[in-house]
Amino acid sequence: MTMARYAVFGHPVQHSLSPRIHAAFARQQGIAMAYEAIDATPDEFAAALAAFAAGGGRGANITLPHKQAAFALCAGASERARRAGAANTLVRRDGEWHGDNTDGSGLVRDLADRHALDLRARRTLLIGAGGAARGVAPALVDAGIGDLYIINRTPERADALADALGQPGRVHTRYWSDLGNLGGFDLIVNATAAGREQSTMPLPNTIVGPRALAVDLSYGEAAIPFLAWARSAGCAQAIDGLGMLVEQAAESFALWHGVRPDTAPIYAELSGRAVALATGD
Ligand code: NAP
Repeated sequence: MTMARYAVFGHPVQHSLSPRIHAAFARQQGIAMAYEAIDATPDEFAAALAAFAAGGGRGANITLPHKQAAFALCAGASERARRAGAANTLVRRDGEWHGDNTDGSGLVRDLADRHALDLRARRTLLIGAGGAARGVAPALVDAGIGDLYIINRTPERADALADALGQPGRVHTRYWSDLGNLGGFDLIVNATAAGREQSTMPLPNTIVGPRALAVDLSYGEAAIPFLAWARSAGCAQAIDGLGMLVEQAAESFALWHGVRPDTAPIYAELSGRAVALATGD
């Protein structure tokens, strides 16, 4: 019998930590599987995914920039993937791909369980409206945060995300230029790719409330600029996206193999050298 095949698709993908994380989970659970990283440009993605399925692929993680394209290629999708309009996990069932999105629950699990943080009623600022923001926003709303303000460099995408969340009394969009007038927040989530692109993102210190928690969804070098700003601006806590990465992977693993791995060992191993890590997800 050939070994079950799994993969992460992205572009670029060579720095992805997913193969290492899934190999550690498989060893821990005594499951034999092959997990590779497959680089595909947006033009190549659909054909690469089809070839993977034809070659025995049973499950895939999807990362930048393919999450929305992957969702569109699925025959069926979970409610949270539909709300995000993006899939980060694919499961092969009856000859078709089924899409899910574990990013949001990965983030909430990291914050609520690993860091023991209470998210309820936190006045929240979400910066960004791309694939990652779309994945985490529904989960944050479901976790009971207070009002959610979304800003994005391209304002139309923030509006589209707010519309998709469907809670006009609670979810608001603002322009970047309004940031100085919004008062303080208890939770500030950076879901942009600005740190990856090594570009600066001007943020006023007035958005930092007295017990503010700052979270960057990226990790390693890409998270340094935002987390450095957060600390110097007086945020009570600043957390990177490494824990989310490990938790979303664990949930993908559970979808494929029916068992949820213990994330503590691999998180400890990776966070020990987090600053040196290449960026990616
Ligand atoms: P994406 O779909 O390409 O969206 C990128 C977002 O960043 C958009 O909102 C974009 O604004 C904004 N942006 C890019 N450069 C910017 C700049 N210089 N200034 C202000 N905004 C800027 O990417 P994504 O999939 O959402 O990923 C975003 C980040 O989350 C990445 O760093 C990724 O590694 C991380 N992530 C982490 C995990 C995890 O498990 N830890 C999971 C998913 C993603 P426009 O709309 O104006 O272009």
